[in-house]
Amino acid sequence: MSDLAYRRILLKLSGEALMGDEDYGIDPKVIGRLAREVMEAQQAGAEIALVVGGGNIFRGAGLAAGGMDRVTGDHMGMLATVINALAMQDALEKLGGKARVMSAIKINDVCEDYIRRRAIRHLEKGRLVIFAAGTGNPFFTTDSGAALRAIEIGADLLLKATKVDGVYDKDPARHDDAVRYDQLSYDEVLARDLQVMDTAAFALARDSNLPLRIFNMGHPGELLRILQGEDIGTLVQGRTQ
Ligand code: UDP
Repeated sequence: MSDLAYRRILLKLSGEALMGDEDYGIDPKVIGRLAREVMEAQQAGAEIALVVGGGNIFRGAGLAAGGMDRVTGDHMGMLATVINALAMQDALEKLGGKARVMSAIKINDVCEDYIRRRAIRHLEKGRLVIFAAGTGNPFFTTDSGAALRAIEIGADLLLKATKVDGVYDKDPARHDDAVRYDQLSYDEVLARDLQVMDTAAFALARDSNLPLRIFNMGHPGELLRILQGEDIGTLVQGRTQ
């Protein structure tokens, strides 16, 4: 048994996190570093599932704004997440990890279909599972996919990696006096209208009492330190202590 604070976690990475300083696509150096951090955390004893977004390639809403049918755009966005998931699988395997991509839409020439019990079995056997194609439905986001899968697999924590180091009372990029919250309850997030995840994802997490931690994956080592119980970023849960 490991002495980590969490046994099984789900890590949500946005597609943009894979871009590094590029404008589009995947920076191999960046995905390699993220994969190393995930491997380090897994080797410490955690069962780790990942959800990767697709915003570095396509987002349905953006495509629809350009005139495309929204559902088709969302299908393209979901396929973009599969591309990213395959890249993450490759990066993890390069480091000796055992990883499986499981897609919510069937493309089983390139990856497995999502089957809940099989996903849990992979985790129990020490494999990293990357959930692709979000929820499999248009009009949702990979944040919703992450909350859904985290609940389905019984994750102890949903970690959302962002570019900022937690949830602030106002945008820290625009306000020098923005204050970061260490902890928030679901109700405080709603009452203060704070941006943690999209509404559907947040509602799912809240209804199932799934704790969320928002942190900056740009800070090396923080993933492991969070699993070791360090209070990094912002924790959102049922009741603040
Ligand atoms: N998407 C979808 N249903 C889902 C998850 C994602 O239709 O359940 C589509 C949607 O178009 C979304 C795109 O896939 O914009 C990429 O996902 P997301 O925007 O969540 O990626 P991120 O912002 O995390 O990179």
